[in-house]
Amino acid sequence: MEFQRIGQIMGRGVNLRCPRCGVAPLFSGRFSMYSHCLSCDLQFEREQGYFVGAIYVNYAVTAVLMIAGYFSLGLVVGMSLTQQLILWCTFAVFFPLFFFRYARSLWLSFDYIFNPENAHGERSSRR
Ligand SMILES: [Zn+2]
Repeated sequence: MEFQRIGQIMGRGVNLRCPRCGVAPLFSGRFSMYSHCLSCDLQFEREQGYFVGAIYVNYAVTAVLMIAGYFSLGLVVGMSLTQQLILWCTFAVFFPLFFFRYARSLWLSFDYIFNPENAHGERSSRR
């Protein structure tokens, strides 16, 4: 079933695991990523600039949360504009750092749904 496959791949993305096998982690450190899967050898960054899309994901999630949070706090709590600016400017600095790994992982998973094996297959022999 296609929806089950998509859910499985996105679940692996949320857990920061390889979208193909779901076994190996994507990251070796807080901001450093393996070049390929340690379990199934899936190449993660298939070309230079591949993860620019992850920046869009990170930006979009940050902006949506900020806009929703701004209006929610304005309506429910009644925070002043100054308080909101301080809160959301701080949020805009730190949330993307926290979400960095998830944005890359979700981008990789999303791409893997549409380009499963042929685009990522074996590691490139190009240097
Ligand atoms: Zn793998």
